[in-house]
Amino acid sequence: MSSTTFDFSRWPPTLTDTQIESLTLHGTTYALFNGLTYLPPGTTQPPSPSSAIHAPISLLPSPVPRSLFVAVQQLQSAYNVLYSRIAMDDDFLDKVMGAVEGAGKVDDFTGTLWRGWKDIRDEGIMQVSAPAFLEPLHLGLFRSDYLLHTGEEDGKLSFKQVEFNTISSSFGALSERAASMHRYLQALTNYYGVSSHLKPENFPANDSTKGLAEGLAEAHNAYGVSSAYILFVVQQNERNVFDQRWLEYELLQRHGIRAIRQTFEELATSATIDSSTRALRITIPSTLSPSGSDSSIEISAVYLRAGYTPSDYPTPTHFATRFTLERSRAVKCPTIPLQLAGGKKVQEVLSRPGMVERFVGETNARELRRTWMRMWSLDDSNLPIPLTCSATPRSANEPNGTTLARALANSLVLKPQREGGGNNVYKNDIPLFLETLPLQEREAWIAMELIVPPRGVGSYLVRAGTTGNNRSDSNGGGKRNKIVRAETVSELGIYGWSLFSRETGVRERGDVGWLMRTKGVESNEGGLAAGFSVLDSVVLVDE
Ligand code: ADP
Ligand code: MG
Repeated sequence: MSSTTFDFSRWPPTLTDTQIESLTLHGTTYALFNGLTYLPPGTTQPPSPSSAIHAPISLLPSPVPRSLFVAVQQLQSAYNVLYSRIAMDDDFLDKVMGAVEGAGKVDDFTGTLWRGWKDIRDEGIMQVSAPAFLEPLHLGLFRSDYLLHTGEEDGKLSFKQVEFNTISSSFGALSERAASMHRYLQALTNYYGVSSHLKPENFPANDSTKGLAEGLAEAHNAYGVSSAYILFVVQQNERNVFDQRWLEYELLQRHGIRAIRQTFEELATSATIDSSTRALRITIPSTLSPSGSDSSIEISAVYLRAGYTPSDYPTPTHFATRFTLERSRAVKCPTIPLQLAGGKKVQEVLSRPGMVERFVGETNARELRRTWMRMWSLDDSNLPIPLTCSATPRSANEPNGTTLARALANSLVLKPQREGGGNNVYKNDIPLFLETLPLQEREAWIAMELIVPPRGVGSYLVRAGTTGNNRSDSNGGGKRNKIVRAETVSELGIYGWSLFSRETGVRERGDVGWLMRTKGVESNEGGLAAGFSVLDSVVLVDE
């Protein structure tokens, strides 16, 4: 991927206070009116919501070199196929993520999910009870996340992958609306002529809602019962509900498919599996039932927007409920093996010599590898970088992977087998962390070289004030919007879907849409909940 002469350090163009005020007024009003929204903090559900706040947003889109943007979008199909094939390779997942041989040995959460899946495989029900439907389909609604990276030697920019999400890939609908908000601000104000880059032809199309809902609709149609519902499994106090609701509305309006939302708590008593057909049925209360009385509905596809983090499973019953869903013949988005395929450990193992080549052809393997930073395991001795003389082991039995991580700490991030933000260990914190990490737990952690995004690039970030007092403080505690100009890093996510099984093969789409998230450089993590991170969009710039 090639370089660009665009000067990132001169972005964003300077706006006057009046221009900032006006863009904030129009941007936040557009966001509130067009469902670029969250539930306010502290909202409990039920009862039904009575207010919303606009999502944190940027006033201007962030620059991305055109050729690099096109290249990562084109690469998505190869990623869809890669992760679909991994999810169908039981032996590989047993070795890498399993509780006997893999990361599940030392990571309880991974181990519990893997054991549940193994039990289901051992029961053999997938094969015997429903001959017309030998193996339930897997659905992946994927998002591959990237940061722009500055080449060490030539200073050239390329996109490097942060991670590949196979479960609860969120923000599709909100990212589409963030892009349309910027298009609206451009049309309304021409951004006061402050930059020649800010014109409609440089704002790429983003139809994420349509694309992701299409994946769900394909799953529903493949299941073959048109009156069935799609089940959204959601977290109890989810604030990002509108992002999910947009998908429900799209499913109903464009595809005539109804969706029902339930938490694991509700499903513990409402979900049952028909013993002969393995159809998943749930009971829904009269208020949600078309017949007006309590009724039982069949589920065509299970879409998990919960279940990716240990706190979603506070009791063994929660895991049991997950396994009930897994046992059914409904299409799962994702199945447990597809969730396991998205583990950071898998990402690291794929980067080892010859590994990704097992799953995709040579040309695709080469293109995929070009998007990876170097990674290794803390317990490994086969390292992608030679141990340098400055790397001295702490003890005789210290694995080389750990010694190297200590020596190169300043250019590394360590990651455990977790999703959802807030779990990584960066740079200076690494040596002390390694002192306290028990030897046997190292297998569950990977070391990854830090991506080096362009420096000096900035953004105008706007966050809604939320609490009752009419004051704007550094925590965003006032009712007034908080607006800051900050030096920022932007993470691009590319969405794709894949519907597959060993019998049907892989059917996928890689041109589904994208997400741009931007955060202040001072915060390490990308999650919108932790720190000040906003929904953004892309302005394409030419080399
Ligand atoms: P999670 O599953 O918690 O989202 P990620 O792998 O996406 O985990 O890491 C969280 C955040 O940490 C990313 O959004 C990014 O900001 C930062 N990060 C992760 N890996 C790297 C890396 N190699 N270089 C620079 N920043 C990274
Ligand atoms: Mg992430």
